[in-house]
Amino acid sequence: MRIDPDRAALLLVDIQPDFMPQGNLAVAGGDRILDGVRRIMTSGVFPLQAATQDWHPPDHVSFASNHEGREPLEVMELYGHPQVLWPDHCVQGTPGADLHPDLPWERAAVIVRKGDDPASDSYSGFRNNWNPRGERPSTGLAGYFRERGVEDLYVCGLARDYCVKWTAEDGAREGFRTRVIWDLTRSVDPSGDDQVRSELEAAGVELIHLEDLDLEGGA
Ligand SMILES: [Zn+2]
Repeated sequence: MRIDPDRAALLLVDIQPDFMPQGNLAVAGGDRILDGVRRIMTSGVFPLQAATQDWHPPDHVSFASNHEGREPLEVMELYGHPQVLWPDHCVQGTPGADLHPDLPWERAAVIVRKGDDPASDSYSGFRNNWNPRGERPSTGLAGYFRERGVEDLYVCGLARDYCVKWTAEDGAREGFRTRVIWDLTRSVDPSGDDQVRSELEAAGVELIHLEDLDLEGGA
């Protein structure tokens, strides 16, 4: 698959220490994507690279620790929607919230921080989850891509079943031809992968693998 450098963007979702196997919200095999991600970032085939960074205040509503009597991974209802309660993770200014130190972030033109509203979660790089008024406020990323002439989005990162999925679904909804590089993602709960795959395909997202990309075409 040949990448059109004038129309494509690489979107790197939440590749942060807290989502690595030793992190506060460990994703099994999260570190296994790093070599492939580095290969793509340095290949030269994506002149435009963007990243998202999960970035929560300590009193964030998604933390189980902020709900009396709740345990991590319990689900509660929040503003009429299910909300998974997470262990504290990606707290602003902590090392776990950094962009992963082993990747060449100097290549990222834009970094979108998300989840900074204490009252609502933010899985997608494009829009927060619902706020108390039932809205999903934009991060501005879709407008950024449009102004840069982007039509094709290539998404990878963590976690496959939450932030990658929501980002890719919103990308498709915003009108971008959106592809998820499946083997450069990992799930919080791999037992749900079949469902994730079918929901992404139903949203119009194409699932590809690293080997499908022509990385020799770059400078
Ligand atoms: Zn988070």
